[in-house]
Formats: sequence, structure tokens, C-alpha cells
Amino acid sequence: MDIHEYQAKQLLSKFGVNVPPGEVVYQTHEAENILSWLNEDQIVVKAQVHAGGRGKAGGVKVCKGDDEVVKTVDKMIGMNIVTPQTTESGKTVRRVYLEKAYNIKKEFYFCITVDRETGGNTIVYSKKGGVNIEEIAEKTPKEIHKLKISPGGDLLTHHARTIVYNLGLSGKTAKGAQKNILSIYKAFTSLDAALIEINPFAIVENDEIVMLDCKASFDDNALYRQRQVAEMKDENEYDPLELEAARHDLNYVKLDGNIGLMVNGAGLSMATMDIIKYYGGEAANFMDVAGAATPERVAAAFKLIYRDSDVKGILINIFGGMMRCNDIAEGLVNASKEVGLNKPLVVRLEGTNVEMGMEILKNSGFPIKPVETMEEAAQKVVELVKK
Ligand code: GDP
Ligand code: MG
Repeated sequence: MDIHEYQAKQLLSKFGVNVPPGEVVYQTHEAENILSWLNEDQIVVKAQVHAGGRGKAGGVKVCKGDDEVVKTVDKMIGMNIVTPQTTESGKTVRRVYLEKAYNIKKEFYFCITVDRETGGNTIVYSKKGGVNIEEIAEKTPKEIHKLKISPGGDLLTHHARTIVYNLGLSGKTAKGAQKNILSIYKAFTSLDAALIEINPFAIVENDEIVMLDCKASFDDNALYRQRQVAEMKDENEYDPLELEAARHDLNYVKLDGNIGLMVNGAGLSMATMDIIKYYGGEAANFMDVAGAATPERVAAAFKLIYRDSDVKGILINIFGGMMRCNDIAEGLVNASKEVGLNKPLVVRLEGTNVEMGMEILKNSGFPIKPVETMEEAAQKVVELVKK
């Protein structure tokens, strides 16, 4: 799960990381109150969307004086922003962050991620911050440093010292940077983060170290023990179908094809996607209904797939072990009634009560196509969506 920059900064500040004082606004009139207590000569107004690259897209503006701030807030709220990290149609700005603006002396890049190769964490950092890190990686890869922390290990003081040394810092800035780096790492592990990226990690006037921008993502599977983070979810930033799926505890991912899939178990889901591809089709989604498949949950999953306008045909491929095929069939028939089924639906069921399930489908009055094998199922649905 991703969160907004201002939320990431709120979390970091609880760990003693130095972030600018600031406050978020949803509507222009709120800005005036905040300006009266922020009481800074310069304020930076920042569009809050789950995408970087806002600076170049008009989503970050340093303002002088209250009038300019209010005008900028008014312009940014409701604005559509398109950056290299959004889709072509962009994102609507619904929240704007106001924070103290600093005079920047130097900008660095600092990032912690979970390393899938080692299972530990990797810290990536560079003297060249503020700008697009992919560009630096391509043009001057030597400017990018990596430090791997082994699984179960911790970031120790000497590691932090190595980082600040490689960043070319000494004296007061080195001390400040070291303290902040250790605190960011503590936040990363304590919050079950998957990524915390600070760009720029800056030295400002008076040689103070401040995190001017922050992007954070968290491990969805750990959100049950990170309520504070989970509560930060901004539903506007997500696909409505994915949100609906999450509410029913379904594993759903939207894909680019036109065949909607409902399968149980990640292994069978992947095998089904493969066989569809083998016969010349493309899956429109990955939907794993593993777990307790009550008729209600099956119906919810089916309706979700059905409502996707990219879906031209649906394939259900379920092995009823713990799930009973009659429950699945019942859920499918109920959902078909609700949506007024008029897209091809191919169903392959196997396992507990399979005869009962097939009977229910045959007697449903809907043109549901029951098949016996996975191969037949894939061939049939590919053929039907091509018609
Ligand atoms: P991004 O473009 O989405 O990564 O947004 P950032 O928050 O990184 O802002 C883009 C750029 O705006 C930064 O790299 C800075 O150069 C500049 N910026 C951000 N905050 C401040 C600030 O407080 N003072 C000044 N002078 N510039 C800032
Ligand atoms: Mg940035």
C-alpha cells in the first residue's frame, strides 16, 4: 500500500526524522488558518498524489506571501496532474500540502527497500539527488551506492558513518545526516515498510538536514499489525474494482486482456492464465477466490469481473476441495440473475459435489457452458470471445 508524502512525513517525524513543519488542506479556505500558525516567509505548496515527478509537472511551487500561497492552493486543488509516474490521463489533485520552504544547499538521494534477492534490506544512496534517479543510474552509475543489510541484521552506527562519508559529509552535517539515517531505518523496520525513498534528502541553510520529499510503500500482508498505516489509505488513489475486491478479501489484479478469470489458488490461477495464452487469449484479470467460497463471496467475485467493461467472456476454473461445487454453482447462478448474464460464461468445476454443481448450472436457464477439462475450458472461452 502506498501513502501520500505528507502522511509519510508524519510517520517519519514520530521516529525523530527531521521533516519540514507543514499541514495538509483539502479546500482553499483551510489554507488561511494554516498560514497564520506556520508563519514562514516562504511556503512550498505540493500536490498530494501517489506519483513522483510532480516538480516538473507543476505540482510543487515555492511561494512568497500569503496571497501567492492561497492562489496556488486554489489552482492546484482539482488540477489534473500528469507525470512520468502516472497514466497518460493523469491524476486529480484532491489534497495539497503546505510546508516551510528552505533554501537548499545540497540535494542527495536516499532510499531503503526490501531486497527480494537476499530477503534483507538494501539502502541505495547518491550525492546526486533531487532529480530522476533512473537517469543517474543510466548516465553515471558510479554515483549510486548500495549497502545491503542481511536478513535479521540491523543498520549499525558504522554503516551510517560509511554512508555519510560516501556522501562527502563531515562535521555538523555528517552528524545530522547520520542521526536521520538511523531514524529512517528504524521507521522502515518498525512500520513494515517495503520502500522509503527520500529525494531530496537535503542540506539547507544553517547546515540543517531536512527530508524535503518522501515516498513510502508498505507490505499489505503486515497492515493488520500496522493500523496507523492502514488508516492512511486514500481510496481515491485506487482502482474501484480493486477496492471492492479487497473488501471481500479476494486476491484481484486487473490485467490487459479480455477474458475474466475466477480461479481458486495462486498456482491454478497462473496455470489457467498460461493455458489461455497458449490458446491465443489474454486474461483481463487475476482473481483468486481461495479460502471460504460461500455463495455470497463467489457472487461478489463474479460481479466484479462481470462489471469490467474490458471483459468479453468469463472462465471459472475451480477445484472444490474445501469449497463445494454446489455452493460455487449457486453463487454463479445468483450473480447471473443479478447482472442479467449476457457475456459468454465457461465453467469448469472439479471436486466435492461436482455433479450437484453441474446440475445447478445446467438447470439455471442461463447459457452457461459447463466443460470437464481445463484444456477444453480454455479453448472454448478463447473461441467465444473472438466471435
Ligand atoms: P517530486 O518532483 O514529485 O519528486 O517532488 P519533490 O518534493 O521532490 O519536489 C521537487 C523539487 O522541488 C525538489 O527536488 C526541490 O528542488 C524543490 N523543492 C521541494 N521542496 C523545496 C523547498 O522547501 N525549497 C526549495 N527551494 N525547493 C524545494
Ligand atoms: Mg522528489
